[in-house]
Amino acid sequence: MTGELARRARFMLVSDLDWTMVDHGDFNHAALRAFNRLWVSAYAPDSLLVFSTGRSPPLFHELAAEVPLLAPDILVCSVGTEILINGLPDEEWEAHLNEGWDRARAAACAAELPELTLQQESEQRPHKISYKLRVNDPDRVLAALRASLADAGVQTNVIYSGGEDLDILPSRASKGKALSFLLKQLDAGPGRPEAGVMVCGDSGNDVELFAVPGVHGCMVANAHAELRQWCAANGHDKIFAATRDGPGGILEALTNFSFLNPSPPDTVPRRQALVAQQEWAEEWVNGSVPRGAALVEKRMQAFAEKFEYVGASGTVQSRAQLAEWLTDKGHGCTAAGVASALAAAPPAVAEAAKAAAKAGAEPGAHSRMGGWLDRYSERQLTHGLWLARWMELWQPFAAGKATAGARNARWCSAVLRHQQDGSYNFEYMHESSVPRELARA
Ligand SMILES: [Mg+2]
Repeated sequence: MTGELARRARFMLVSDLDWTMVDHGDFNHAALRAFNRLWVSAYAPDSLLVFSTGRSPPLFHELAAEVPLLAPDILVCSVGTEILINGLPDEEWEAHLNEGWDRARAAACAAELPELTLQQESEQRPHKISYKLRVNDPDRVLAALRASLADAGVQTNVIYSGGEDLDILPSRASKGKALSFLLKQLDAGPGRPEAGVMVCGDSGNDVELFAVPGVHGCMVANAHAELRQWCAANGHDKIFAATRDGPGGILEALTNFSFLNPSPPDTVPRRQALVAQQEWAEEWVNGSVPRGAALVEKRMQAFAEKFEYVGASGTVQSRAQLAEWLTDKGHGCTAAGVASALAAAPPAVAEAAKAAAKAGAEPGAHSRMGGWLDRYSERQLTHGLWLARWMELWQPFAAGKATAGARNARWCSAVLRHQQDGSYNFEYMHESSVPRELARA
């Protein structure tokens, strides 16, 4: 056993993406970024983040380039038929699904029903045949299809989701069966996450996740009838019906269940220091915090007196220079100042401010620059001194606009020193640009 399944995790979150982790109605993804902040500060990297989606890997990557998704530890695609760990398919799972599966025969049965229309080519996978079914009486078509598949002797699992998506899978496959397989692997290796497993979903193909024994469940407020009906009939005290849509509901469920010890308590203040710093930078970029010298100086107290900031271009700035740049008299606040800063030494915030200004330039387009941290790791250097590494991503979000092309990212490292009051002080920070193709989950 290798990769993420060999690691002992304290907590495991398994979430559907569309309309669960991703609220397509929230154009700047405020709730998703709030989830990201909580996950990075209180869960990662001691927990497992699993995305379980109906999307194929190509459509997952399309979504991950557009919205601020964290990089998952494990990715389950195509309604549980593909398990990817570190981007590689799990061969044991593939072999398990092959038994009793006859793709051509299953497709021939479906071809007899004119109500079913094939979905796009990228969604047709080795262990999944996907159709659109938009009729008033889907149950009649589902019954006819199941009968025809049974007559042909093909062992399948037919899943109808969101009132229009129909998938034919091997009988051994579903989101729930993929999760059971992962849990079995953990049982045979490092053990199950001691703080628990929580699944999150909104539609029919998520039902089987909720049915996995022992898991907690979060049904988001915008859930479809298929999941609502199942939860109403099978509900128990481990299923939480959120009052908020999508990622807001997931945040609510994490608070509701208050899982014990998802991270060692001494690690949380370090990550909180980084997350708070990034959140302030986001507010600064969006012009929502005062830029008076005294207030900026106060914020700078999180940095040690001898703090050094090394930008992506290699230019070194002291704490005083950085503070001066960030105030209302500094270069960072004027268009000319941002331009010259970009030409000379571009701190991440300058580039982000420029992109935000650009995205908001069109009349009527409300836009907001969003930032988030991902892939956090750390190492203790000596007593009280830590080296932290993470990726910082920035993207302007505007209603009705695809802004993936404006995303930029940096690898950052910082040295943090433990303070007497339990907080952490930044001694040093270094950023280096990340090529665009790597700037996504
Ligand atoms: Mg969904």
